[in-house]
Amino acid sequence: MHAFHLRGLSRKLSPWQFVLHGDTSAYREGVVTWMCQQERWKQARKFALCGRGDVGQGCASGSALRVRPRGCGSRLCARCSRKYGRRYYRRVAGWLGNEAHGELVHVVFTQRQLPFESLSQAMGRFQGAFLRVTRRWALAGVAAGLVSFHPKVGRAGGWHFHAHAVLELRGVTLEDFVAAVQPVWWAAQQMGGAGLPPLFARVVCGAGAALAGLAKGEQGEFWEESPDQATRVLQYVVRDMVQGVDRWGEGLDGKRMAEGFCDALADAKMHRTYGKWRRAHDAEDVEEVDLGESDEAPGTVTEKDAKKGALEWFDVGTMDSILYRARSEQEFRSYALTLVSRPLHRSPLTRRLSAALASLVS
Ligand SMILES: [Zn+2]
Repeated sequence: MHAFHLRGLSRKLSPWQFVLHGDTSAYREGVVTWMCQQERWKQARKFALCGRGDVGQGCASGSALRVRPRGCGSRLCARCSRKYGRRYYRRVAGWLGNEAHGELVHVVFTQRQLPFESLSQAMGRFQGAFLRVTRRWALAGVAAGLVSFHPKVGRAGGWHFHAHAVLELRGVTLEDFVAAVQPVWWAAQQMGGAGLPPLFARVVCGAGAALAGLAKGEQGEFWEESPDQATRVLQYVVRDMVQGVDRWGEGLDGKRMAEGFCDALADAKMHRTYGKWRRAHDAEDVEEVDLGESDEAPGTVTEKDAKKGALEWFDVGTMDSILYRARSEQEFRSYALTLVSRPLHRSPLTRRLSAALASLVS
């Protein structure tokens, strides 16, 4: 297939693709152009078509719908990078949902932004310095941690590359931790703190018992908020951290910038776990699926019901055909509505699907 044709495909999103990917046409076209330049033809095609093959499955014993995703698996894909991040969410949730924990804190590491630096350079500079910090973590009282690296387009040119960390502390307070780590972070950048803001650090949740709300398992893109407040705060912090490129890519306009983004991130590891969170908790279903080939059901709110009662699922059709038929057929409309009927939070994806469904009814 020609690059020209592939770029055209990436610009035209089907209705379901729009729900998944949002208003990212310029970015998507930039990525496909980059993939074509790299002669990653197969990847480019999968990327452009990500979501078109998603199948909606209905439940035999009532009106319920779940989505069997056919993602492209690319780290550069707004949808599939979310899924990649969810594996880390699941890992952390497996521990916190089943074991008592120490104080949980959220810390953000930033470095000075250099206007003419490429993203790869900004990343290299950051990670060199960050390594010196993480080597001291055990000493600074970190029992476990999840770190997500976020590239953002800088306002004055260059990149605002930074890292969010959720850490479990043992035997130290947040103040102790900051006092031990901040000087190391500043020194690692050979700046002695000049021009660097203090670390952003806050307590997310005090030490306590297992957070039962997190143990319920992964619920995919249409997830339900926990009723418990501590759990909810953590859900938001961790979910936000493991968000994919649709957040990072905000403000990616120029072609050169999209290229820099692809060069740096196509094969990069953007999330890292430390301490006991490096492995899965025993209670967690071990599931290591290759992103591109996954046939796992994405967890909708109905998934856990399915596990409970071993419901029978059958293919209704592609998600696009379901959305199409929902215009005129009540049955298909109620199917589609079940996807947004229970999630209490408002993710961009849930919002877009709700809007699409509301426009069908009017
Ligand atoms: Zn994808």
